[in-house]
Order: sequence, then C-alpha cells, then structure tokens
Amino acid sequence: MISVAEAEATIRDHVPLLGDEAVPLADAAGRVLRESITSDRPFPPFDRVAMDGIAINSKDYENGTRRFPVASIQAAGAPPHALTTPSQCVEVMTGAVLPDGTDCVIPVEKIKLTNDVAELTDKETPAPFDNVHRKGSDRDVGSELLCAGARLLGPQIAVAATVGATTVRVSCQPRVAIISTGSELVPVTATPAPHQIRQSNVHAIETALHLAGHTRTTRHHIADDAAAIRDLISECLSASDIIILSGGVSAGRYDFVPDVVTELGVSIHFHHVRQRPGKPLLFGSIAGQTSVFGLPGNPVSALVCLHRYILPALATAQGCPIPSAKERATAILDEDLTFKKPLTCFKPVRLIAGADGCRAVPVPMNGSGDLAGLAQSDGMLELPEKQTTFTKGSPYPIWRW
Ligand code: AMP
Ligand code: MG
Repeated sequence: MISVAEAEATIRDHVPLLGDEAVPLADAAGRVLRESITSDRPFPPFDRVAMDGIAINSKDYENGTRRFPVASIQAAGAPPHALTTPSQCVEVMTGAVLPDGTDCVIPVEKIKLTNDVAELTDKETPAPFDNVHRKGSDRDVGSELLCAGARLLGPQIAVAATVGATTVRVSCQPRVAIISTGSELVPVTATPAPHQIRQSNVHAIETALHLAGHTRTTRHHIADDAAAIRDLISECLSASDIIILSGGVSAGRYDFVPDVVTELGVSIHFHHVRQRPGKPLLFGSIAGQTSVFGLPGNPVSALVCLHRYILPALATAQGCPIPSAKERATAILDEDLTFKKPLTCFKPVRLIAGADGCRAVPVPMNGSGDLAGLAQSDGMLELPEKQTTFTKGSPYPIWRW
C-alpha cells in the first residue's frame, strides 16, 4: 500500500494539463491564467498626486516662501496644468497628474487655506516628490505583471483591467462527473424507508468543487449493479475530464467499481493508501483523457480524499502551481493525540485564532460516517504516518473545507 505522498505524486504524474481558451475579463473570476500579462504603460503611467493638497516647487520653499497663492486647480482626469509664476501653488486632487513646474505635494491637513492663499505650518519641510507616486516606480512599461499559472482573484483582475486586457487566456474548466453508488441511497427529495438513507456525497462533493471554482459538474447516482455502473461510467468517460465516484471501492461483495473501471480500459494507478480515513481510495486514468477517482462512500472519507487529492489535482490540471509539502499552511494541534497504527491520519478540527497562530481543536467524531460531527469542523489536520503520538502545540498541515 502506498503513502499519502506517493498517492499525491502518482496523481500529479497522470492528470493531464487541460486545454485553454480566451474568455472576457468579466467572466474570468477565479480562473487560472495561461498567458503572461505585461504592462502596456509604466505603472503608474504619470507622476500621480497621492494626496489631496497643494503642489509646489520645493525650491520655492527652500528659498523661504511659506505662503503660496493658488494659481489653479488640478483635478484628477484633467491634462497637466503648468505652474509658471514662482512661489505660487496648484491645488491638486488625489489621482491628478503632478502639474508641470511643481515637484511635491503638501497634504491639505498640513496647510491653512485662506482666500486662495495656502500657508504652510512651521512643521512642514517639503522635499522633492513628497506625496507623489512617481511614474514607473511600481513597474516599467513591458514588465511581466502576471505569469501563466496565476489564479485570477481580485488583485490579478485589477492588473489585467489596468493593462486593458478585455479578454484573457485561461485554462478550460474541467468537466467533472460526480457519481454516487449504493443501493441504500435515495434522492434528497425522497422519503427514505427505514433501511435507506439520503444521498449526501454528490452534494458535498459538488459544493466543494463549485467553491473551488469548478462549476462544470454533473451529478449522477447508480445502484450497486455492475451492468448499470458500467453503462453510466462508460457514458461519463467520453464526456468528462474527471470522474469522481463515491462508494463501491472497498472489499464488499457489491463493491463493483474497481472491476468495472478496469473492464472499461481504465488503468488503475493505485488502490488503497496508508491513511485513515479514506484508505480504499482508488485512482486510475485513460492516458491523456479521463482521470477516475474512486472515493470510499463514508461521507468523511469521501471529503477527506476530495480535499487532499482531487482539488489539488484540479489546480495542477489547470496549470496552477500548488504549494510543496514544506510550503503548506499549518495549524497548531490543540490536544495530545495517540493512534495505534502508523497511518497518516486526517483529523477534523475547528480552527480558532490563538496568540501564537491558528489553533486546531479536534472535533469529537463518531467514526468516518459521522457527518454531523464533520459539520462542526472547519477543515482537517494532516498528522503524518511516521508518528503515532502527537503533542499539543505542534504545527501540522491544515486543509480547509
Ligand atoms: P461504501 O464505500 O459503498 O461501502 O459505503 C460506505 C458507507 O458510506 C455506507 O454506509 C454507505 O451507506 C455510505 N455512503 C455511501 N455513499 C454515500 C452517499 N452518497 N451519501 C451518504 N452516504 C454514503
Ligand atoms: Mg456502497
């Protein structure tokens, strides 16, 4: 049986890079960039007034001037005024071009303006380029501002908009088929018989995918019937980049998924990982086409595997670099824990801000079927397999739901 790190590396090696497409900037939220974005002008494109106030020539101050008649008003969006008369000033607004003939800005709070004459307080000692955001001081024209692989969140969209990128080239959205298996499961809309339960995994998986920006999902359900499972997976194989199955991957008589996917030509890269919960995880693929994940049906196991393996795999498939093991976010374990077996353990935790960082408080769980317990957690702490005792106060990787 392979380790968590080996499972992760195997998935990364087999999930192909998705294609790319051009989309309007307004539709690019959360997408992964597949081109580099460069500055078409310097950042900022002109000497930009950074405070409301007056612009003066600092030499006039050096020569002893303290009272500056206002020659004109420079608004944001207006072409630059010119100060031609010595010892005068231009009233300026944040975002305006620094007027020609001036070299610094004195904030409005630092002057007294009476009858269009600005008087400096004694404390002010203006120097060249005070309160001026200098042209090109952030980036030169032609600089790479965003590189391929960047996820387009607010700041990145702002940069793309500033350089006039009306469309951006991004990764295609993966087409994901989510299939739950199990004859005991009925739709949310049905009233279950005493021996049945409502399906929750497809909804939980779809929600996590949507929250991660993967919205091209379809939901399916199938009973524990080998022929029916074969037909559905066969249909989904040709229409999906990723198939996520839940249930039917363990060792029970009616766990048909491993055999069926093999029959359909999927190469199984691994089945079972040294972890708890989620040990029966299966991963296979049809090379260059479709990746198939078989998650154990237990709701906690299914979500653990989704967050630990599938969401990072989807980021990789979109060309988005994911943090290495050393760079991962951590949280501080808030209890001593001991396990019997050396398996990587994923522990649902509540996250609480602490003086020395984010504290991870294990939530009481009644096994890997305890959905209600899981709903009290914010994520899971990854406790490595090399240890069986874990002490309060140590940091471990955290995966948030
Ligand atoms: P399995 O992996 O198919 O053996 O299922 C393990 C357990 O998870 C069983 O108790 C199932 O009833 C439960 N389970 C499987 N699929 C789902 C699902 N979609 N929603 C909720 N529970 C499920
Ligand atoms: Mg089942």
